[in-house]
Amino acid sequence: MSRLWIKNGLVWTGGNQARVFSGGVLMNGSLIEAVGTDSELEKAAEDAQVIDAAGRLVTPGFINAHMHLYSTFARGLAYSGKPPENFIEILERLWWRLDRILTLEDLGPSAEVVLLDALRAGVTSVIDHHASNNAIDGSLDVLAQASKKIGLRLAGCYEVSDRDGQETMQAGLAENLRFAKAVKDDPMLAGMFGLHASFTLSDDTLETCAAAGKEADLAFHVHVAEAAPDAEDARHRGYRGPLARLHARGVITPGSLAIHCVHTNREEWEILKQARAFAVHNPQSNMNNAVGSAPIQDMCAAGVKVGIGTDGMEADVREEIRAAFLLGHHTSNDPRTMWPETASLLSTNCEIASGLFDLPLGELTKNAAADVVVYSYYPPTAFDPDNFTGHLLFGFYRTPANTVVIDGKVRLKNGQPVDIDPAEVAARARMQAHRLWSRF
Ligand SMILES: [Zn+2]
Repeated sequence: MSRLWIKNGLVWTGGNQARVFSGGVLMNGSLIEAVGTDSELEKAAEDAQVIDAAGRLVTPGFINAHMHLYSTFARGLAYSGKPPENFIEILERLWWRLDRILTLEDLGPSAEVVLLDALRAGVTSVIDHHASNNAIDGSLDVLAQASKKIGLRLAGCYEVSDRDGQETMQAGLAENLRFAKAVKDDPMLAGMFGLHASFTLSDDTLETCAAAGKEADLAFHVHVAEAAPDAEDARHRGYRGPLARLHARGVITPGSLAIHCVHTNREEWEILKQARAFAVHNPQSNMNNAVGSAPIQDMCAAGVKVGIGTDGMEADVREEIRAAFLLGHHTSNDPRTMWPETASLLSTNCEIASGLFDLPLGELTKNAAADVVVYSYYPPTAFDPDNFTGHLLFGFYRTPANTVVIDGKVRLKNGQPVDIDPAEVAARARMQAHRLWSRF
């Protein structure tokens, strides 16, 4: 087992009882062996490879709880015809058109670009939700290969939907089960059961997926009430809303992720709580699609566990956390809000990912995953566990990572990916995007 010692840093441990101190982290293979001051660790770290953090900030890796690695090639893509007027038109005229023309060859380059962005931002685990409806079988393997290449942890799933017919639905279902089984023993990969959203799923499909997910012991990952039409559709079917419908059909289970929850109500939040499932907030995407904003202050106050994801908008979840904070102030007209909620978004992401990977993630403690980031951030004011959120929101939310270690391996050094050429990754993506755009 290779041992690695990051020393001489300003350490924020994260976790339930976060500490801040000058010192470092000693790693042994995939796990953290000890955290402490340099003098405390010196003897134990005698034979370890040393990285001098030179006074920089040392934190656990960040986690993105909802991502679409396939979305990269939409960057700069022009619509033909009139611009979409609402969320359903955005899906029909952009995302569903895009996912139907994706090939397996497109998926690797698309994923590598944003995984590399994530790495450079100190995001070490990504929970992805994938769709490529004419290239389904093996698609999650391609994403997994990309994440292995860049070095991140990836929880993958395929978005089952009835929107393209029975055969496509069945293929998506099978891809979830196949992938989850294949990665069962891989500490860097995890599987979930992906579903698109209530309004594109029939009762029969939901029940088939519920049974298959239960049999395979998989948590579900589904968009919920992202925009009003999803909520209206569920009400027309006789439910209080999409969460109530999905729960009644057996797909809101412990550890499942209900993405967005913009148009949900108190009764539905109780369902999440009772089921020990999570909501995931994606404020930048919600603003971009003009679908409203999730009432996360009320959800948190009601005891719902709310995590945070970027929904393909970008790779850096720190920027998303800042957006959540600002949007929460803006919508509530109350500058006192969002402080505890911000801490809660972070800790819920750790709980979600730790459950999926069956390993403590997002904290620097003995026997937690050796996922450690050194940011070139030198606090200009006092830094302590109580004001970490203030430094994150107004200081290092955009500071690039200097060093990133994932699973005990150095993946970013002096701000540069190890063994990966970002220019080559971008060039390959541009070539593939050019071909894709010609089919769009
Ligand atoms: Zn999404």
